[in-house]
Amino acid sequence: MGIHPEYSEDLAKIIIKNKKHVREEENFFLVKIKKTQFKTSKTILKLGKYSDLDELKKPEVIQMIERAREKKKKVFRERNEDTVKSRLHHPVENHLISSEFWTKRLKYRYERKGKEKIKSKIKNSIHKGLDFAGKTGTTIYAMADGKVVIAEKMYFEGNYTLIDHGLGFFSGYMHQNEIFVEEGDKVIAGEKIGSIGETGAVTGAHLHVFIYIRGIFVDPMSLLVLPVRD
Ligand SMILES: [Zn+2]
Repeated sequence: MGIHPEYSEDLAKIIIKNKKHVREEENFFLVKIKKTQFKTSKTILKLGKYSDLDELKKPEVIQMIERAREKKKKVFRERNEDTVKSRLHHPVENHLISSEFWTKRLKYRYERKGKEKIKSKIKNSIHKGLDFAGKTGTTIYAMADGKVVIAEKMYFEGNYTLIDHGLGFFSGYMHQNEIFVEEGDKVIAGEKIGSIGETGAVTGAHLHVFIYIRGIFVDPMSLLVLPVRD
């Protein structure tokens, strides 16, 4: 289970239903919520052609984005068997965070108005993962055991790998230089799955890693401190 970063209550109620008994049993317990102050960045991210609204209106671009959206929607609905049986692994060797989880950020957008004029816009966005700075070619490791369900180039994400860890738990790796795995491959925590790059909408080489649990993005680093059963 993941707790939404903007969950506002001090306590969360977790209900457990046990259907194994003849009569359905229901238990609950309360979990105290410790709130995190997420950052706000004032830097305006200029993303080259990815900031160009005219570019985003091109039919081939629309088609590429739409196809990626449909594919992601389909795999995120899957609820496969739990595969997390070993320790978890840090996705890179150098812990150099260049943008923290859930930071409020500003993205530059523009469109052409006539030949010379440019109309600028600023888009608010939330950083739903964590960025690790690193040189192009630096190894990326799988964070947990699982099955590769996406391994392809997407428009904004660049070279993108998504691993299904079962029960609606996924980890994603974006902007890679190279992808070393294929869809359907089984991977273990710490296995080399790709390398850092600057493909897709980026301002420089880095790994964007995210953890998605049943529709909720959580800080990937919060996972590394959890005990994992055998
Ligand atoms: Zn990122």
